Amino acid sequence: MPNPQSLTPTLCAIALGSNLGEPLAHVQGAVQCLDQTPTLALQACSRWYSTTAVGPPQPDYINGCVLVHSQLAPLALLDHLLAIERQFGRIRRERNGPRTLDLDLLLYGDQIIDLPRLQVPHPRMCDRPFVLVPLAEIAPDWHVPNTQHTVRQLLQTLDSAGVHRLTPEVCP
Ligand code: AMP
Repeated sequence: MPNPQSLTPTLCAIALGSNLGEPLAHVQGAVQCLDQTPTLALQACSRWYSTTAVGPPQPDYINGCVLVHSQLAPLALLDHLLAIERQFGRIRRERNGPRTLDLDLLLYGDQIIDLPRLQVPHPRMCDRPFVLVPLAEIAPDWHVPNTQHTVRQLLQTLDSAGVHRLTPEVCP
């Protein structure tokens, strides 16, 4: 039986997003939840950004990123993020109601993980200005595994015109 906790804390990057209900309350609540998790230690939190949604008409997103030291192994951390999504992210009155919180595990140290349930680095992070703008605030020099580039360098290749800083305060 594999131990879900890794002994050595590993630095991880997590993206947060919401565009339904009270998006800012959801992402701030999620950060508090991460901060209160005994096996995680919050290291940094970006500012919050308002992001124009792509795809069908829908409200703007609130996006941000955090860094945590994780004593949870990758799949255990994913399960924890999914549990927080369920806690904050669903309107429980409705069956299959809209998800109001999205938590993505972007980076887990320098690991490359390719499992059916979990791919790290997150496969779409390099294409998403709403991920790289806040991540570059707190981890600009992180070399993204599977690329030859840092977060800052990857961001320079994207058009981030649709990503606007929401508040001057640091979170939560
Ligand atoms: P979505 O709601 O579209 O973000 O997809 C969530 C599902 O993506 C989860 O149930 C995970 O099993 C899967 N997944 C794969 N890689 C990741 C990752 N790096 N971070 C979060 N979810 C992931």
